[in-house]
Amino acid sequence: MDELVALCKRRGFIFQSNEIYGGLQGLYDYGPLGVELKNNLKQAWWKDLVFDRDDVEGLDASILTKPDVLKFSGHEDTFTDPLVDCKDCNSRWRADQLKSNKCPSCGSKNLTDPRPFNLMFKTSVGPVEDNNSFAYLRPETAQNIFTNFKNVIDSTSKQLPFGIAQIGKAFRNEITPRNFVFRVREFEQMELEFFVTPGTDDQWHETWVNSRLNWWDQQGVSKDNLELYRVPENELAHYSKATVDIMYKFPHGLEELEGIANRTDFDLGSHSKNQADLNLQSNVLENNESNARLAVQDPETKKWIVPYVIEPSAGVDRGVLAVLNEAYNVEELSDGKTRTVLNLKPHLAPIKAAVIPLKKNNSELVNIASNIKKDLQRLRLGRILLENSGNIGKSYRRHDEIGTPLCITVDFETLEDNSITIRDRDTMQQKRIAISELSKFLEDLIIN
Ligand code: ATP
Repeated sequence: MDELVALCKRRGFIFQSNEIYGGLQGLYDYGPLGVELKNNLKQAWWKDLVFDRDDVEGLDASILTKPDVLKFSGHEDTFTDPLVDCKDCNSRWRADQLKSNKCPSCGSKNLTDPRPFNLMFKTSVGPVEDNNSFAYLRPETAQNIFTNFKNVIDSTSKQLPFGIAQIGKAFRNEITPRNFVFRVREFEQMELEFFVTPGTDDQWHETWVNSRLNWWDQQGVSKDNLELYRVPENELAHYSKATVDIMYKFPHGLEELEGIANRTDFDLGSHSKNQADLNLQSNVLENNESNARLAVQDPETKKWIVPYVIEPSAGVDRGVLAVLNEAYNVEELSDGKTRTVLNLKPHLAPIKAAVIPLKKNNSELVNIASNIKKDLQRLRLGRILLENSGNIGKSYRRHDEIGTPLCITVDFETLEDNSITIRDRDTMQQKRIAISELSKFLEDLIIN
């Protein structure tokens, strides 16, 4: 983990947030390369779940959330962790994560009894701060998918089964943020709520678990390092009938990368008015004052059905950490030296290709390199960089370390025959091809 954290800082993937003022625990910022990697991972998710399907629609809803939503979702009552304080060193820990009831910081057993600590951040909305003016920063993106259920159905005429996908920030006041971006207080989630007819939910649950496992594998997170954990009944969240966690071997241990829950009709039922005539399967909260009936009408029987929902919920930041960890390699070379390389899948690489003129500031070479950059950039495959450093060896090393799959060198032969040298990041093999062949070559590399 330390090597990965050092690389992230050195090369501009991830920085500690508010660093120049001493930092703020549990918050990180994504730098020039990190933002590209993160966007590419999100895009790959969106492509797989929205663009490649016709039964999923997208959404981008607000972060500030009315307390009623999180009251009826059950979060106000249940979204808590048991907290203990060490009376000797004043540090604070999650009770369920303490080993043998000792303070992990000073080893003291002089701890307070566990007490519930609500993980939701509050803020006030509008100019007057009082008990009625507060809102929560959402602790998961899911709830405004449920509150928008009717809007999406009415505007798209979707029939069951169908899903709503959203990527966005979520906030949890974690007691002990740790392990780099694994457990943070501000993070991003990629969540799909997939609505199905009750009775078909178990089958859909399995389908989504397999689909998500394959997707992570396609992002370079090998199935060999992933495990499924079927959450036992006594550990299930309040809304869940069954949950399968996709666990990844992070550098600090095997932990959750994504959770896939069968949330039943709990959420739509909880946010609906007139619950009595909805024939709900699960025990939802009563006295709801919402003005919507979040249900669909069976076209034949005309009965209202509250769909069950399967929720694959993945953390973007944990995803970035897993992808980086899988890609990070230090290789022994034949000359006894080592090279650090990020073997990222090309579609995730922050920079798709670096175009390098052999001689710095040679206007003829730089002009050709600059035109190649512009042409390749037009393909909209991601960022293409003109690397005018004049030091080929150094450029190769830097681009290996940041995962650029292709380096393109423009040299004096180029002036004669319009050919360039391309170098493959993984094999380090070089070959010459015509400039006219480059677009197709890059497209094949990034898209396939
Ligand atoms: P954990 O048990 O690790 O606290 P969780 O079960 O509470 O996680 P979920 O509520 O299922 O997590 O959230 C879905 C996903 O959101 C998780 O699989 C994870 O990838 C991500 N996530 C949750 N909490 C955090 C956090 N504090 N920092 C980064 N990512 C998080």
